[in-house]
Amino acid sequence: MRQKSILLAGNWKMNHGPKATAEFISALSIPAKGDAQMRLYVPYVSLTTALKSVADKKLPLQIGAENIHFEKSGAFTGEISGPMLEEIGIQQVLVGHSERRQHFNETNETVLKRTVSSLNQGFEVLLCIGETLAERNANQTESVLSEQLKLILVDQTCLGALSTKLHIAYEPVWAIGTGVVATTAQAESAHAFIRNLLIKAAGESKANATRVLYGGSVTPANFKELIACPNIDGGLVGGASLKLDSWSALWNLL
Ligand code: PEP
Repeated sequence: MRQKSILLAGNWKMNHGPKATAEFISALSIPAKGDAQMRLYVPYVSLTTALKSVADKKLPLQIGAENIHFEKSGAFTGEISGPMLEEIGIQQVLVGHSERRQHFNETNETVLKRTVSSLNQGFEVLLCIGETLAERNANQTESVLSEQLKLILVDQTCLGALSTKLHIAYEPVWAIGTGVVATTAQAESAHAFIRNLLIKAAGESKANATRVLYGGSVTPANFKELIACPNIDGGLVGGASLKLDSWSALWNLL
């Protein structure tokens, strides 16, 4: 039986500037839940405020950035680099979110570059993968997931970082922000498939210690049964992470 270590991660996307961030975190309470961990990925402009609010309240809350560029500096207008994030005290980054893939032309190649560069700079990476509705309907879910992990699972930096600095979020695109959550059978089947890919690439012990989070319309009404699935190690949550009551309710289900 795998030992699970649950992570509840929120992705604020393009919501909550510094003022709303300070208000949210100052009103948050995080009662201990075994070894479960809470994390929020917040907009760049809110990172410093978030870190300060966490420090002021001494909260066990990790703060992460929603993206990171693979170069350390240079002519990349609008991008943020690892050294910049490190300078303000960020250690966590989200990479490859489907909205980056859909709207900003992120590819498996650029996702690999961002992941490897982040790992080489010491960041912990949560790497997002997931199929579209058309791909699911065409029975391509597993081949899409394999393809999205193919470059990652032959890269020595990534393989070495699995279980410690590299974890995965399975987020079916059709479930993100739609209110349509995957059934526990659909989610567990995809997670078991991902776990097997990890086992084949990195061996059982590293694969079993790698968190695979589920994301896509997670709410307090469905989270408990999702995290009861053997291969689901927590949630990556968009909409329900934005409001204090739903976010606290998710944590209190652990
Ligand atoms: C997400 O942003 O990664 C996400 C899963 O969003 P939502 O929970 O709103 O579907």
